Amino acid sequence: MVGPVVSLDNLTLGYRRHPAVHHVTGSFAPGSLTAIAGPNGAGKSTLLKALAGELKPLSGRIRLDGVRRRDIAYLPQLAAIDRTFPMTVLDLVALGAWRSAGLFGAIGKADMARVLRAIETVGLGGFEARTVGTLSGGQLQRALFARVLVQDAKVILLDEPFAAIDQHTTSDLLAILQRWGSEGRTVIAVLHDHEAVRAHFPQTLLLARECVAWGATAEALNAEHLLEARRMCEAFHDDAAVCAA
Ligand code: ADP
Ligand code: MG
Repeated sequence: MVGPVVSLDNLTLGYRRHPAVHHVTGSFAPGSLTAIAGPNGAGKSTLLKALAGELKPLSGRIRLDGVRRRDIAYLPQLAAIDRTFPMTVLDLVALGAWRSAGLFGAIGKADMARVLRAIETVGLGGFEARTVGTLSGGQLQRALFARVLVQDAKVILLDEPFAAIDQHTTSDLLAILQRWGSEGRTVIAVLHDHEAVRAHFPQTLLLARECVAWGATAEALNAEHLLEARRMCEAFHDDAAVCAA
C-alpha cells in the first residue's frame, strides 16, 4: 500500500452543468488524514459527494486504486440526516454490517459482536435500544462513527463531522479518526476549524472552487493561501459576506 488510493484527474464538478469545482488534480495516499478546508460555497461538500459516488463528474475523473465503491464510507453533514426515522442505535450501527449480512439478511453472531463492540468504542454502551430521534447531535455522531467502524471502510469521508458537536465528543471522535489513519485507512474530512486541522490533519486540500493548495497542512494553510482562497471565493459571489469565513 504505497500508491494513492484515490486520485483526482482534472476533476470538474457541478450541478445542472454549472461548474462548482474546477480542474482539481491530486491524490490521497493510503493511511493519510486530509482536511478539506475553504470558505463557504468553496465546493467542499460537492467534492465529498463526488468522492462518495453520489455526483458524476462534469469532466475529468476520480480514480480508485485497490478500493471499490463499497469500501468507501460517507458521512454527510449531520443537518442533512433524517432523524425522524424510527430506528434504534443498534439498528443504525448494524447497517454498517450490510455487506456481510445482505441488505435484508439477519445479522450473524460475529457481526452482532462487532456491532456491540463498536457501540462501546464510541462511548454509547447502554444506548443500544434508544431511538435515533432521542439522541443529541453528539450522540448521533458517535453512533454514525460506530457504523463506520462496523463497515470496516478503507476510505472514510466526513463532512463537517464536528460542527455543532460538544468538545468532549469531538475529542473522542478525533481519537477514533487518528486510529483509522494508523490502521491504514484513508480519512478525508471537511473541517472549518483551522486549529483542529493543524493539530490533527497532516494533509490539507484548500479549496475555493479551484484547488488553492494541497499538501502539508502548515504550508497549505499559510496566510497567503488563506487570503487567496477568500479572494477567489469572493470573485464567485455577488455577496462577499457569504465568503467571509
Ligand atoms: P461548501 O461545502 O464548500 O460550502 P458546496 O459544495 O456545498 O460548498 O457548494 C458549492 C457550490 O455549489 C455553491 O455555489 C452551491 O450553491 C452549489 N450547490 C451545492 N449543492 C447544490 C445543488 N444540490 N444544486 C445546485 N447547486 C448546488
Ligand atoms: Mg459544505
